[in-house]
Amino acid sequence: MKALVSLEVRTTDKHGSGHWGAPRGDRQHMGVDYVCKPGWLAVTPVGGVVTRLGWCYRDTQEYRYVEVTDVGGLRHRLFYVKPLAGLSIGQRVDIHDPVGVVQDIAARYPEITPHIHYEIKRQDGTYVKPA
Ligand SMILES: [Zn+2]
Repeated sequence: MKALVSLEVRTTDKHGSGHWGAPRGDRQHMGVDYVCKPGWLAVTPVGGVVTRLGWCYRDTQEYRYVEVTDVGGLRHRLFYVKPLAGLSIGQRVDIHDPVGVVQDIAARYPEITPHIHYEIKRQDGTYVKPA
């Protein structure tokens, strides 16, 4: 498998733009979308503890996300990433450790640029712009 090394941001396609703050109806895109291909290995951008292995949508169990909380308490979430088998809540991970496999988001949003969504949340629920 290929490691996720892309830092190319998704530009505008028929579903919008992957930049921070891009419009999403009456809301804003509170993360950054990084272009990558399904099947690539996704690595954690920070060291910390795995705090959630979640589901992205209420209407399907297909799409997953991995949340790693860093020492400062920020919650880093990678969406459309299927957690690696054996990855568990409470597990410590180092920066750039593989945590999952990129999923095919274009199967849900036809013609969207393949990507993962990266967002960072503070403990109070507000967002931080990923650098
Ligand atoms: Zn996004």
